[in-house]
Amino acid sequence: MLTLYQKLLAHFGDPQWWPAASREEMIIGAILVQNVSWKNTEKALQLVREKFGFTFLALREAPIEELAACVRSTRFYQSKAARLKAFAFWIEAQCKDNLDQLFARDLTELRRLLLLAPGIGPETADDILLYAANQPSFVIDTYTKRIMRRVGIGPERDSYEAWRAYFMERLPPDALLYNRYHALIDRLGNQLCRVKDPLCSDCPLKDCCVHARAKSLLD
Ligand code: SF4
Repeated sequence: MLTLYQKLLAHFGDPQWWPAASREEMIIGAILVQNVSWKNTEKALQLVREKFGFTFLALREAPIEELAACVRSTRFYQSKAARLKAFAFWIEAQCKDNLDQLFARDLTELRRLLLLAPGIGPETADDILLYAANQPSFVIDTYTKRIMRRVGIGPERDSYEAWRAYFMERLPPDALLYNRYHALIDRLGNQLCRVKDPLCSDCPLKDCCVHARAKSLLD
């Protein structure tokens, strides 16, 4: 797993992800980005920033219709607006908006807690753990599964938890490594390992990829 990471890092460089000025902004982005592109998430974040700012208090006080209008560029925007508000109330109940206090828990306990929060699934929880709390929790998304299946590796069971465990059992528990690895996978999935017609000849993983080898035999 480290070899793949090193190949990606050498090709793309340090991805410097997640692009947020505060942990609150990062968490709001993590909730909004589910099932939508980052470009559309950015549009929503810009409007939320201008209209309300990135505080949980502002989210709690925001009228739901106005918040929904701000996040319209994300899919299921009414549900996303409701999730933002619900999470802001949950944060108040958990730690009175004190993220240092919330994030002081160890990884297992904090993940268990986040998965109980309204509207937070495993991918969002791991985004928050890794990028806002700086804890080594590997994030799995559709890019990860697509690329690793094509390369020819992955767990036997196709569940989120099985994929996460597959990475975490093979990598040291290093938040910076997980941060960069996930971002590099997304960059590869976005730029080269596309759903249709992956650009294998430009890919840093082509020498160890089953899909690329099979493709070259057919060409
Ligand atoms: S070589 Fe092709 S199929 Fe394999 S990971 Fe790279 S782009 Fe995807």
